Amino acid sequence: STHAENAAHDVASHLHPFTNLATHPQVGPLVITRGDGIFVEDDQGRRYLEAMSGLWCASLGFSNARLAKAGSDALHGLPYYHTFNGRSNPAAIALADKLIALAPVPMSKVFFANSGSEANDSAVKLVWYYHNAIGKPAKKKIIARKNAYHGVTVAAASLSGLVPNHRDFDLPIDRILHVDCPHHFRYAEPGETEEAFATRLADNLEKRILEEGPDTVGAFIAEPVMGAGGVLVPPATYFEKVQKVLAKYDVLLIADEVICGYGRTGEMFGSTTFGLKPDILTSAKALSSGYVPISAVMVNEKVHAAVAANSGKIGTFGHGFTYSGHPVACAIALETLKVYEDENILAHVKSLVPQFQKALHGYEGRKYVGEVRGVGLIAAIELYADPAKRVSFDPAKKAGARLAELALAQGLIVRAMGDSIAFCPALITTAAEMDELFVRFERAMAIFEETFA
Ligand code: PLP
Repeated sequence: STHAENAAHDVASHLHPFTNLATHPQVGPLVITRGDGIFVEDDQGRRYLEAMSGLWCASLGFSNARLAKAGSDALHGLPYYHTFNGRSNPAAIALADKLIALAPVPMSKVFFANSGSEANDSAVKLVWYYHNAIGKPAKKKIIARKNAYHGVTVAAASLSGLVPNHRDFDLPIDRILHVDCPHHFRYAEPGETEEAFATRLADNLEKRILEEGPDTVGAFIAEPVMGAGGVLVPPATYFEKVQKVLAKYDVLLIADEVICGYGRTGEMFGSTTFGLKPDILTSAKALSSGYVPISAVMVNEKVHAAVAANSGKIGTFGHGFTYSGHPVACAIALETLKVYEDENILAHVKSLVPQFQKALHGYEGRKYVGEVRGVGLIAAIELYADPAKRVSFDPAKKAGARLAELALAQGLIVRAMGDSIAFCPALITTAAEMDELFVRFERAMAIFEETFA
């Protein structure tokens, strides 16, 4: 079908996520039909260098033959079976084993779900179940952070700290609170060092726990690097200080590794890069390179032992999905993890990081660039109307969206989150492709600087 036909049918029948549904009929979709390596192609034959790995997930690019074969073999072998009531399948067993071996801190068990949102919802329920199990039924509040993104199901959207996830959905639900976002550039007081800022945030967290009552606070959830909030990298000592507070009041830590997990920060997990020691760890996205929906929730023995004992009392652990441990998804995830190992992806990422970060930081001092931030192969450039005076653009001018549009016209897919332009290239990007990414981005930026007012 032609692009015009595709667009007409899409507008007629497709309700899109995270889309302005009022303007979509005029704008229409970009219809992506195929991919090879880090490139994708649309239904008009235009090719784009995909510098966002789709939605931060296609870490092995868009045409990995080993993943396709693993999926096809699984479909021809055992296309479906469930894992309720003690049923299992070899792919789920092998993947659980593998994840326990890879975990950044000692973990005891893996629970499978289908998306990051479901993983985080499951983590919330595990926290509640855990505190009931240990006889602390009042310890149910979960502290998240402003600008966090943890997904869209009711509990995960409540954990998220971004306005569109709450507004007009009657969220957040009660028992979920939000504290300071550790973005030094935007929220530090004049002259405040990163260290002093981290100390202040940890002190505020402690005050909040005391105000709420330590016996009512069950867990704290954090992305090691906040992704959709704008790629916000925490100050070096932030998590160390926060974890001291959590330990003092017996508050569990949930690490949301949905974006950071599996190499993105230059280590296998963001928890390693930033020193988190989570009790519960959620991951998705790069777990299967985005090829099939799957997510994993790892729990340590402290959490597992209490949950297991309680399920013994009431007869079941009453949570799980039809597709928990889906054999096709698990087979593809397992193969993804094998490819990371066989291709020594971590070493490749480490070798690319200096080139990537140097190119990005080269934008500091440009006409409309306020801040460049990133770690590993994830980064953002934030546009300001007047960087020297730290004046942001009027949001109505949609500066970020404009620059992303100009990049698209240059054959480059980046993502505008407000006026932050995010980059999250595939982990398999070559040095030459990385150069090409920035050649295209520079063309877009030059036009933006000349034409945006
Ligand atoms: N957590 C983080 C950190 C995410 O970035 C996302 C998605 O972008 C989610 C959770 C939600 O994942 P999903 O969209 O698979 O439900």
